[in-house]
Amino acid sequence: MLVLGAGLAATALVAALRSGGFAGEITVAGDEDPYDRPPLTKELFARSAPEDLREQFSLAADAAAWIRARATGIEGGVVTLRDGAGRATTATAGAVVLALGSRPIVPVGWEGVRTLSRWDDAVALRTALAPGAHLVIAGAGWIGLELASSAAAKGATVTVIEDTGRPLGRLLPEPVAERVTAWLRAVTPGTVTLVEGRVATASPTTLDLTNGRVVRGDVVVAALGARPATDWIPRQWLGPAGHVRTALSGTVPGASDIWAIGDCAAAPGGQHWNAAVASAQRCADALLGNPVADPPVPSVFSTMFGRRVELVGHASPGHEVLWREGRGNGWAALFMDGDDLVGGLVVDRPRDVAALRRLLGGGRPVLDRAAAADPARRLADAVRRR
Ligand SMILES: Cc1cc2nc3c(=O)[nH]c(=O)nc-3n(C[C@H](O)[C@H](O)[C@H](O)COP(=O)(O)OP(=O)(O)OC[C@H]3O[C@@H](n4cnc5c(N)ncnc54)[C@H](O)[C@@H]3O)c2cc1C
Repeated sequence: MLVLGAGLAATALVAALRSGGFAGEITVAGDEDPYDRPPLTKELFARSAPEDLREQFSLAADAAAWIRARATGIEGGVVTLRDGAGRATTATAGAVVLALGSRPIVPVGWEGVRTLSRWDDAVALRTALAPGAHLVIAGAGWIGLELASSAAAKGATVTVIEDTGRPLGRLLPEPVAERVTAWLRAVTPGTVTLVEGRVATASPTTLDLTNGRVVRGDVVVAALGARPATDWIPRQWLGPAGHVRTALSGTVPGASDIWAIGDCAAAPGGQHWNAAVASAQRCADALLGNPVADPPVPSVFSTMFGRRVELVGHASPGHEVLWREGRGNGWAALFMDGDDLVGGLVVDRPRDVAALRRLLGGGRPVLDRAAAADPARRLADAVRRR
């Protein structure tokens, strides 16, 4: 088996295959060493080496052979690999698994603007962020906010530009994004400024907004989301957004013995940690001839501004919101479609996260609104019979 890419999905696949009893040869070819990405933003200033980010990765020498190479072509089951000096070799295998991840979106013309996706980006960024530096971030999604949080804690002044004007504004129902905005303003007075606007042009130190405003800083970072790293993959295997089209198990329709997992595939749950691991497990099960489990309830975890934030299930700006909060700091916003619960954003209430996962795992439960809003009651007790 040949696995292309050596990140989270690849290492989870190797671990799942070996623990499932796969005894064949596995070779993993990656253009960088395996490590875990979430700490790159959340612990930007805390980690000293990529090895430090490998706790969860079990690419042990006896599990898989490892080649440092970049895959640049695949035709008729033959993969072209290039080493750091550009020298090409070819490889074949009984099964080829694409685990290529994604790359940050950088609009045309934004030359020199930084991104934060790889270890090298993190190292360069923390060197550039000297104490007192002004960091300008385009995009208030997960990555932009986590970076703002780490940089502000380290003494930087941060400006975040977001076209909806609200953190996570493209994702969350409006009242919830408003609440995140108010929280952010309250905990970062004078350090993090949120600016509503759309970026027209960008340079390494300046963003020009379409409303005429110019925002200058010492460092500019684009945090606009990511695209699958599939530019060299045959077009007929790709969907409109550049993801490799797959069945639930990871097989690629119309391509024999080719599989795709993680961020590069359009796996249910999106480009997130839990979804990547689940897709690797499904792929391993299919390769081992085991039944393939249904995808888990989508969920994204984050830590920002000292709080644990988790998004579970489905969220859209149009969903109605049911608040659930007590006297402490934690709260949950439940996303409703009529009386059906479809998702929620939970801040510092880990029990609600677990309950949401369980309840949404069974479909769209109908909630008794008064019971669900009472933080002293278990969420499970608020479910009504349909
Ligand atoms: C800074 C950051 C923070 C994150 N935080 C969170 C979080 O808090 N919660 C969450 O749910 N998700 C988070 N994510 C997303 C999560 O890390 C990804 O969903 C996950 O890593 C996807 O796993 P993957 O194996 O598909 O891709 P990756 O882990 O990105 O691995 C893909 C690997 O393939 C390599 N590669 C690409 N092309 C080639 C090629 N042609 N040849 C050889 N190798 C290649 C890449 O260099 C990379 O090493 C974060 C992502 C980033 C960047």
